[in-house]
Amino acid sequence: MSTALRNYINGQWVESKGNALLDVIDPATGLAISQVPAGCAEDIVDATAAASEAWLNWRNTPATQRVQYLFKMKQVMESNTDIIAKVCTKECGKTFAESKAEMIRAVENIEVACGIPTLMQSVFSEDIATGVDEFVIRQPLGVGACISPFNFPIMIPFWFMPYAIACGNTYIIKPSEKVPMTMTLIFELLEAINLPKGVLNMVHGGRETVDAILAHPFIPAISFVGSTIVAKHVYRTGTLNGKRVQAQGGAKNAVVVMPDSDEDTTVKIITDSAFGCAGQRCLAASLVITVGDTAINFTEKLVTLAKSKKTGNGMDPAIDMGPVITKESKERIESLVQTGIDEGAELLLDGRNVKVAGFDGGYFVGPTILGNISPESQVYKTEIFGPVLCIINVGTLEEAIGLINKNHYGNSACIFTRSGAAARKFRHDTLAGNIGVNIGVAAPMAFFPFSGWKESFFGDLHGQSSHAVEFYTQTKVVIERWNDEWSRKF
Ligand code: NAD
Repeated sequence: MSTALRNYINGQWVESKGNALLDVIDPATGLAISQVPAGCAEDIVDATAAASEAWLNWRNTPATQRVQYLFKMKQVMESNTDIIAKVCTKECGKTFAESKAEMIRAVENIEVACGIPTLMQSVFSEDIATGVDEFVIRQPLGVGACISPFNFPIMIPFWFMPYAIACGNTYIIKPSEKVPMTMTLIFELLEAINLPKGVLNMVHGGRETVDAILAHPFIPAISFVGSTIVAKHVYRTGTLNGKRVQAQGGAKNAVVVMPDSDEDTTVKIITDSAFGCAGQRCLAASLVITVGDTAINFTEKLVTLAKSKKTGNGMDPAIDMGPVITKESKERIESLVQTGIDEGAELLLDGRNVKVAGFDGGYFVGPTILGNISPESQVYKTEIFGPVLCIINVGTLEEAIGLINKNHYGNSACIFTRSGAAARKFRHDTLAGNIGVNIGVAAPMAFFPFSGWKESFFGDLHGQSSHAVEFYTQTKVVIERWNDEWSRKF
């Protein structure tokens, strides 16, 4: 029997039907810690068959009963926070504190989804004509699927799954093949809540598995989170096949620093945003736009604080930043830094070739800051997805907003200011879906939608909250006539 991670289909742990395996690497050491199936279409066929069968009963289970499983799910997640977070840190690299923070965000989504009996309610109009009423029923779609990225192995599937199953759908999660152990552990723990077989399934794999999900005729709804290039492929192929798709993509998040901002607080918040999770957050600040004469003091303080950030193994409580996810990722980030320098940027802080004692094989990149970059440069346009912060200076708030609006990404944008008028203009005029005012990571709470725009999102309904409920239900309009005279005949 293979020692590779197994899929969870129809309440059973089963081996993948594909033969190819991929190593799961601890990014702090560069060593393999497990193996995961590279995936195959047959696994998706099996999972979908189980989920379709389970759906027949699950859709008829009252919402009030369905959410009882979610109450238990919350309890299981909370009481196992540390062991789940530890595995997450091991395979993803982020600090233990960051993994625990992910757990909280996941649980918040379960909590919101526990309100499904209310969230699924609809509208009713009495007497649209004499004796005729009209109303809307929200019904589940069938089998849903989530395809998730490496950077939040715990949280991201919970932007969708709790809502989908609470609404009466059954579900398949495909974790990132780079970080498959965390969700495997979560599934092992969730066995304790005794969901009916087939309601919740997990299939490992990479591209082939994703393409099988996109092609399967009995998966009507897909939630994707990952890079823009793959988001486009998933959205295009899924919708071409008649599916509902919500696909969250990459980002280049700008933070605008106004001359009247509270400098010390701003520097601290931006440093945390840019270098937390080693810059591998889709809402990480990756571009600072200083306005007017903010630049000089601000930049100096930023570099000093960034320099003090300690890079190392995520389980070491003394460190601020773990490694990046893969060797290729480290090489790509470092080569983009060089591109920036070649394009004329000023290297204010160089995190390349950082060494961590005892972790020679790890994929570490220290905080890096490039000043004076041009809006025409590669580093301005590209999502670096590492601990690299670029700085650009402009004369006015209008220019700053203009730059953000020209960028093809629109995940988030933040402003740091003491002026209500500047903040109001920024939130009104900026073309990005998540706006922060004196906030570094504009991550919506679970009861708000995660609202990426432009090439950071393909679709219309986003993850989390009422959007997830709408995405995972379809509306049925009923028009009824009841005539008093008919009743009298019986
Ligand atoms: P990725 O696009 O490489 O992978 C995401 C998922 O797609 C994985 O499950 C992977 O197996 C699958 N996949 C990869 N290549 C594929 C292909 N060619 N065809 C079909 N499926 C494929 O993303 P990643 O590197 O795991 O994650 C980082 C990216 O995710 C960054 O761009 C980041 O901005 C983005 N992200 C966005 C959000 C958001 O909310 N917008 C949140 C987190 C991460």
